[in-house]
Amino acid sequence: MYWEEKIETMDIGTLRSLQLSRLRKTLERAKTTPYYKKLFEEIGLDTDIKSLAHIRDIPFTTKNDLRENYPYGFLAVPKEKIVRMHSSSGTTGRATVIFHTREDIDNWSNLVARSIYMTGARSEDVFQNTMGYGLFTGGLGLHYGAEKVGMMVIPSGTGNSVRQINIMRDFDTTVIHILPSYAFRLLDVFESESLDPRKDVKLRIAFIGAEPHSEEMRKKIEESYDMDAFNSYGLSEMNGPGVAFECPEKKGMHVWEDSYLIEVINPKTLEPMPDGVEGELVFTTLNRKGMPIIRYRTRDLASLYTGKCPCGRSHRRLSRIKGRTDDMLIVKGVNMFPIQVETVLMKFPEIGRNYQIRLETKGHMDEIYVEVEVLYPADDMREYEGLKNRIAAALHSEILVTPKIILHQPGAIPRAEGKAVRVVDNRVKE
Ligand code: ADP
Ligand code: ZN
Repeated sequence: MYWEEKIETMDIGTLRSLQLSRLRKTLERAKTTPYYKKLFEEIGLDTDIKSLAHIRDIPFTTKNDLRENYPYGFLAVPKEKIVRMHSSSGTTGRATVIFHTREDIDNWSNLVARSIYMTGARSEDVFQNTMGYGLFTGGLGLHYGAEKVGMMVIPSGTGNSVRQINIMRDFDTTVIHILPSYAFRLLDVFESESLDPRKDVKLRIAFIGAEPHSEEMRKKIEESYDMDAFNSYGLSEMNGPGVAFECPEKKGMHVWEDSYLIEVINPKTLEPMPDGVEGELVFTTLNRKGMPIIRYRTRDLASLYTGKCPCGRSHRRLSRIKGRTDDMLIVKGVNMFPIQVETVLMKFPEIGRNYQIRLETKGHMDEIYVEVEVLYPADDMREYEGLKNRIAAALHSEILVTPKIILHQPGAIPRAEGKAVRVVDNRVKE
């Protein structure tokens, strides 16, 4: 049941002491990097801190700090000790790069193996990794962990959907790593190949993540493929996948606290938030040798669950990610997140597999359009007039503005190659 029982079920007191001793070592290592050396001198930091709370004496590290000290300003080891480089996807601007020593890769793979094992996947499984191989961490990150578990790994990579399905059928893939939006897109391809994903392939477990998705979307994916889908959270700055992962309870993702120190802060006041209250996630690496990062502001919004998980693991659980602070839209003076729209849309069985939010300026006003595909083609889209009104009303009660709903035939809304693009903002900037 556990990959590393002792660590996964460690009592909280011991876990906190382990964190403190690893934090001290991390600060010592950080002190040797050009960036933190200067910072620690400026603030006169004594790295032998007495409690975890003292981490709050250290300023946050932001994506911008990483960008400004590109490429080697955060290195804590000589370059010849580095064996791998990865980078972020660059969803919100110039990509940041992260370097790993051999030991770092081994520790990261171990966290991924721990996560995979937790979901019930075992060495007998055949694992197809449809994430991008290369600089993106979803490919190689999962790959190394899956090999550690001993699964047969098929590094199929992204794209070529018909071939993905053929591979699933030829090699009896049982476990898959897939973007939630791509899991949806692939359903169209199953359909055009006249195949039934519930019957014609043997998938039993999916790891879905790398982009925000709603509980409703997970349920649809699980039903469409007749498999269990587990939420997987990570970011390249904290290695990549294997930061937090769902256990079989599927109520939150265990954050591997032996390797990451997590804080939740109010993104405006920067005050710490108690467990159970939503805020921005801030992470510190506790076990990385090549490139320690302290108090990294992720801009991701979520909360920590309170209470013990019935699975027996003591590491705290993270709620579903609501989105990034940058994803928040202000429309007609009202704040909203794309995932709120998704949650509503997914409740309509007539709705298909893609949607997009489009914002325009009409006169001096914001106008919000929600473009939605229907599940089954219609000869005349007017058949769906009633549906349109019902969607608009349901969305109004969730986001407090009334969007214009535009319905499309299945497949009509453009699909992104990588992470889904849910918002197109064409508003005139003042
Ligand atoms: P980028 O930040 O450029 O997209 P990454 O590839 O490092 O680069 O992606 C990490 C980000 O992806 C996270 O900070 C988060 O915003 C998003 N993400 C990763 N996993 C999840 C998940 N399970 N749910 C929601 N968002 C996720
Ligand atoms: Zn659990």
